[in-house]
Amino acid sequence: MPRPLVATIEIAAMQHNLSVARQQGEGARIWGVVKANAYGHGLLRGMRGFAAADGLSLIEFDNAVCLREAGWRKPILMLEGCFDMADMVTASTYHLEPVIHCVEQIVLLEHAMREHLVKAPFDVHLKLNSGMNRLGLAPAAFQAAYARLRALPGMRHISLMTHFANADGPDNPALPLARQVGCFLKNTRHLDGTRSTANSAMHLLQSSQAADWARPGIMLYGASPGTRTAASIGLQPAMTLASELIAIQEVEAGDAVGYGSRFVATVPMRIGIVACGYADGYPRQAPDGTPVLVEGIRTRLTGRVSMDMLMVDLTPVPSAHVGSAVELWGTQLPVDEVATMSGTIGYELLCAVAARVRFEERSAVDALQLL
Ligand SMILES: *Cc1c(COP(=O)(O)O)cnc(C)c1O
Repeated sequence: MPRPLVATIEIAAMQHNLSVARQQGEGARIWGVVKANAYGHGLLRGMRGFAAADGLSLIEFDNAVCLREAGWRKPILMLEGCFDMADMVTASTYHLEPVIHCVEQIVLLEHAMREHLVKAPFDVHLKLNSGMNRLGLAPAAFQAAYARLRALPGMRHISLMTHFANADGPDNPALPLARQVGCFLKNTRHLDGTRSTANSAMHLLQSSQAADWARPGIMLYGASPGTRTAASIGLQPAMTLASELIAIQEVEAGDAVGYGSRFVATVPMRIGIVACGYADGYPRQAPDGTPVLVEGIRTRLTGRVSMDMLMVDLTPVPSAHVGSAVELWGTQLPVDEVATMSGTIGYELLCAVAARVRFEERSAVDALQLL
């Protein structure tokens, strides 16, 4: 029998979240971000969930080829651009649209065109470093980079993009959002091309900013990009990580639970052993008290998460037995809550679900069949 640990992916939730992003966008076209294996949900599930998106965007060239081979015909944006000449050739062959974020990538593209390694027309996304200081050309180098790309014979569309560092919470004096927006507008004002700026946080914050395309990621999976909860935004969790109790221990006051004996019972209690550990992607940093649902009832983690198991307090669930259903996160327990308790963000937990976890999928069609 397989382990009872299962990640269930709701395609209908992804479709719903995409429609929320669309309503928010006031006409902006949507790049559905499917990098990192669709944030851990599975690349092709992302493709199905976001079939109505205007394009998909990701980092990994092998996965972009998978999307084309699986039948995705709409645009594909490569968020970090080409890493080498082979990627340029792949981009040309499969009509992928790479970001150009540094001069080295312009040199690579010029070389590729000179040597006829890529064929026209070629579409690129020129990225401005508007203050985050991660990827993008410096403002002072932006116009020249644009002109250099424009001069290439096979060049068709040059889209203009940037990325915001602080759209997910209170304004940050180290880099106010308005400064980044101002920098982008100033440096792209005279240039021809569609604009694409917003990740989920920015998209939710400021839908009417000067953008033709938005690039929502995390919100499409039903988790929050920042301070507002996903539910308050009307998002539905796309992944539920669920397991079962595989054993129960009765402990007395003074008994300790798990590695390092971090949790010590102060009263007699039942401890449930759940088939899910850090080798499945559950955060080892989770402290005692992290919420876990047993038979739909909220209880708490007790003791250190081990590689394959974790332990929970069964006091609030007297009916719990070996085989009782456990939700680690998902439709009833927001992944963001577990993440916050563990000192991280929902993104990291979703992306880190391990390869050994069984994935199941509920599609909209299955939902209809249940009626
Ligand atoms: C990952 C990514 C996004 C999506 O970010 P979310 O916070 O998940 O919405 C948008 N743009 C770029 C360039 C990215 O790398």
